[in-house]
Amino acid sequence: MKKIALFPGSFDPFTRGHEDIVLRGLQLFDEIIIAIGYNSGKSQRYFPIELMISKIKETFKGQPRIRVQTYSELTAEFAKKNDAKYLLRGLRNTTDFEYENSIAQVNKHLYSELESVFLITSPRFASISSSIIREVHKYDGNVADFLPYHL
Ligand code: ADP
Repeated sequence: MKKIALFPGSFDPFTRGHEDIVLRGLQLFDEIIIAIGYNSGKSQRYFPIELMISKIKETFKGQPRIRVQTYSELTAEFAKKNDAKYLLRGLRNTTDFEYENSIAQVNKHLYSELESVFLITSPRFASISSSIIREVHKYDGNVADFLPYHL
């Protein structure tokens, strides 16, 4: 039985912090599905979804154990449909913990076989967040150091 993990997020944009979680996750799971939560009806993304899909694919080119998909339903439902029994998430600080703790409890309630697995951020990526990158990019700042691909 393959161990499939879902790594869900907005990934607006996908950062070096996210990349680190995925690469470390590959040591724990057979397959990782990077699942971009997306609601086509009311998209408020900063980076277009198509751009992010292609950049994430480019980042993990030649890595057959990683897939990229979008979804617009409950994460627990999407995990079930894809036979993913694990939800991979990253933790940077206590704010992340508070948020992740509640989500994990709800997901477990919705799909009892689903285990959330948390990897603590690598210190060098601890300060990277998608929201700060969006802010820097909006004012024409250089965000290249935070991303594993060229925009
Ligand atoms: P969401 O919108 O669901 O919070 P994000 O795209 O912001 O999704 O993040 C997806 C996951 O990656 C979350 O578990 C988040 O805590 C984690 N994450 C984000 N940035 C980092 C980082 N720099 N290091 C480790 N984990 C991170």
